[in-house]
Amino acid sequence: MSEKQEIEALLPPEVAYDEYARYRALLAAAGLQPGQADFVHLRKRSIDARGRQPLVRLRADIWRSAPPTDLFGPWFQYPDISRARRSVLIVGAGPAGLFAALRAIELGIRPIVLERGKDVRTRRRDLAALNKEHVVNPDSNYCFGEGGAGTYSDGKLYTRSTKRGDIQRILKLLVQHGATPEIMVDAHPHIGTNKLPGVVAALRESIRQAGGEVRFDTRVTDLILAGTHLRGVVTAAGEALEADAVILATGHSARDIYELLHRRGVRIEAKPFALGVRVEHQQELIDQAQYRRADRGPLPAASYSLVHQTQWQGQQRGVFSFCMCPGGFIVPAATAPGEVVVNGMSPSRRDSRFANSGIVTAIELEDMDLQRYGALAGLQLQQQIEQRACQLAGNTQLAPAQRLGDFLKGKVSAELLDTSYQPGLVSVNMEQVLGQGLTARLRQGFENFGRKIPGYATNAAQIVGVESRTSAPVRIPRDPATLQHPETTGLFPCGEGAGYAGGIVSAAMDGERCAEAVAALVRG
Ligand code: FAD
Repeated sequence: MSEKQEIEALLPPEVAYDEYARYRALLAAAGLQPGQADFVHLRKRSIDARGRQPLVRLRADIWRSAPPTDLFGPWFQYPDISRARRSVLIVGAGPAGLFAALRAIELGIRPIVLERGKDVRTRRRDLAALNKEHVVNPDSNYCFGEGGAGTYSDGKLYTRSTKRGDIQRILKLLVQHGATPEIMVDAHPHIGTNKLPGVVAALRESIRQAGGEVRFDTRVTDLILAGTHLRGVVTAAGEALEADAVILATGHSARDIYELLHRRGVRIEAKPFALGVRVEHQQELIDQAQYRRADRGPLPAASYSLVHQTQWQGQQRGVFSFCMCPGGFIVPAATAPGEVVVNGMSPSRRDSRFANSGIVTAIELEDMDLQRYGALAGLQLQQQIEQRACQLAGNTQLAPAQRLGDFLKGKVSAELLDTSYQPGLVSVNMEQVLGQGLTARLRQGFENFGRKIPGYATNAAQIVGVESRTSAPVRIPRDPATLQHPETTGLFPCGEGAGYAGGIVSAAMDGERCAEAVAALVRG
């Protein structure tokens, strides 16, 4: 055997998730006895649930002699940029903003990150008030605050982006800042809401230790424009800040930023997005359907991914599952009083007894009142549905809900099920919240999903509204080569809020790209 042997094995879960049994099985697959290898390095792990029993596919490197001391290394190192001549203002400390700041440091540019919300620890108190007292703080909630919408989330780290190289880089940075190295191994990695705040705080400390700035409670309220060049921003406290460039990474919920750009004549565009509901089942039902065993044993809580093409009034549109959270919780994700928005998260162990997922369908430009609201038409429609959800559920953070079987029959539920949604639910005819078209499409989607997963579309499940913050309803245009706004130089629209990312990893990658584009600009 050479120094390193690569092997692949398909093992029962009880073997694959037991460290010693796995070690022995992998050695056996390589034709070795225990003691004949120095180290077994697991490289990939995925679940193959297509057969009668689920199996776990593993890829590993077996080292006969001592492997390099750090198989994941070399790690990233940050230079001291406290005296750097060039600086960049980064608005928003979500994944896009934080990763833009770290990349800027690597490239010798000093980042100044401005975040309207609070640090992860202080932010937690506002989330408690939101869940228990139904108080929505417009600067500190599930979307706003350190780490952005990604902090109190599921921390799923997969993306449809095919740039695998960049993804590995982001995962490695997360591991360097405290995430479990298993994220570099699992086919569907996730961190979990209990672990994310620590990782986010470590990212912030790396920025500060290198000489960058991260300021909390600093909401940007205006732009400093010199003709068509953006020189800087003004904060709510009235402070004017200037830099070589501005990376705008404010996420899809910063409605005030879209309105500000519109008001100051910086071109933005209405963009299609998706909207629907969150469906909640007992996790056991999903495990049984996906793994075909009553007890999932050492396997992780099962997930699903569903899609169905629907027809309504002659138009075809997909209904699909979005941000499925096995073993998770439904959370209140509104960013202003008077609206109800739901989303999902899960802890690292994914051990709640509930499975939830967004089930959404596309809202296209033709569904929006572009004549009346122009670039803000999608945002206006999204807000209108969220406000209706709030009104119909009684003007608190109670969310409108209906049992799924009842929704399919158009019947108001006499009684709702137990839920993971902490503020509580109110029985409502969801068609009143969603309107006719969305309801018709969701019904077709759910009926199809019920044929794919036994027991899925029955009164053993319930839907909760509304899942409306799937992606930005507005795009901030940018030049594909320079990543600057086509007409407003110095402005780098970035991340999910600008329409260039969907999810933690793709937002982080876009943040890095924008920092590289700023570096290209300042170096001339
Ligand atoms: P954001 O994360 O939205 O960050 C924008 C930041 O800008 C915020 O911190 C905000 O406070 C700040 N900001 C806004 N306006 C201003 C202003 N005027 N001045 C200063 N700062 C401002 N994605 C996944 O990939 N996996 C998941 O499991 C997952 N689960 C989720 C669960 C929940 C509950 C939610 C809400 C989202 C989830 N997402 C998940 C989506 C993911 O969080 C986002 O795609 C990602 O965070 C987008 O990153 P971003 O940096 O572009 O924007």
